[in-house]
Amino acid sequence: MSIFDKFQGLATDLEALKALGVMPFGAVIEEISSATQGVVQGCPVILAGTNNYLGLTFDPECIEAGRAALLQQGTGTTGSRLANGSYAGHLALEQELATFFGVESAIVFSTGFLATMGSVGTLAGPGDTILIDADCHASIYEGTRLSGAEVIRFRHNNADDLERRLRRLGERAADALIVVEGIYSMLGDQSPLAEIAAVKSRYGAFLMVDEAHSVGVLGATGRGLAQQAGVEDAVDFIVGTFSKSLGSVGGFCVSRHPELDLVRYKARSYVFTASLAPSVIASTRVALRILEAGHTLREQLWRNANRLYQALEQAGCRLGPHPGPVVAIEVGSKEQALMWWRRLLEQGVYVNLVLPPATPTGTCLLRCSLSAAHSVAQVDRIAEAMTALVQDHPNSSAA
Ligand code: PMP
Repeated sequence: MSIFDKFQGLATDLEALKALGVMPFGAVIEEISSATQGVVQGCPVILAGTNNYLGLTFDPECIEAGRAALLQQGTGTTGSRLANGSYAGHLALEQELATFFGVESAIVFSTGFLATMGSVGTLAGPGDTILIDADCHASIYEGTRLSGAEVIRFRHNNADDLERRLRRLGERAADALIVVEGIYSMLGDQSPLAEIAAVKSRYGAFLMVDEAHSVGVLGATGRGLAQQAGVEDAVDFIVGTFSKSLGSVGGFCVSRHPELDLVRYKARSYVFTASLAPSVIASTRVALRILEAGHTLREQLWRNANRLYQALEQAGCRLGPHPGPVVAIEVGSKEQALMWWRRLLEQGVYVNLVLPPATPTGTCLLRCSLSAAHSVAQVDRIAEAMTALVQDHPNSSAA
């Protein structure tokens, strides 16, 4: 008996993939020359699996701000903010996030995962109730486990189911924490946030929206789905990440409740981890400025997203229900999905392969994420490569 015995099944699965000559998990990006181009497993590819929605990873202003901070303030903070202290940049970014979202309070965490897990896990505690959309991200699930609260899952994107479950809680509904996402990461579908906010308001509960995939993508100034749906007043907490539209790493929680600030003294994922490096903070601050003024970038992103979605829909692919920067095609079997992922790579297109149990529908997904930085020609190339696969095997991803 060994602690490693429980990994035996995983080890066997990984060996089988290696034997097929395919290693889609943690693929090595050997070279990266722009927001949309790189070399993966020896193949020059268009990067279509990066969540780099606004293409800001190579923005010259962001790079310059990062470089200047690196030279002036060094490579890292080497400790947590509560123990070692905050740099001026951490405080400035929190202030800028609060201003951007038009709220009182903001906390910056060292990753999006830590932000979501820490916020959910600290805001709710033993004796509280959390209601989460069944398709919520792993970081939200981890937060619920940490909280010690009662956890109730409601059916994905189903405001009626949420309401039924809130009703059953009676008086406890008024203190419950509801957690949903803006755009769901796997299928790219959007939450029916106006309906969810209306239910929340009827019962007086608290509402948290994880806008990891929707900040920079939705809303007139990129504040996400809550802004787009016109329900920001009903949202109590927004969590998100710097690792997608903002092109760096880190996460945040913002709130119109000033009491959010107390979370920073309690969330272990904030208290007991090193704060973000000055260069990361500096490039993120510039990226946030670009994002807010980024109408043109958002238009380019949506033009690309709609173009790919329509092309794949016309080709008869089984897709998520909403066009958007995440476009995922469902593939009939794991073997097919692996083969297609490899063939796409050989044809110069890098996408994400997602297999159950990581997929919400229990099916295999080839997941593309689009960027404002993709050219129309690149989008067409992605569409062409994916369409060719489906047309060669018409039953494998038929709508
Ligand atoms: N929330 C959601 C919905 C996500 O999809 C992700 C990352 N994929 C996270 C949180 C965590 O963000 P990060 O990768 O920046 O830690």
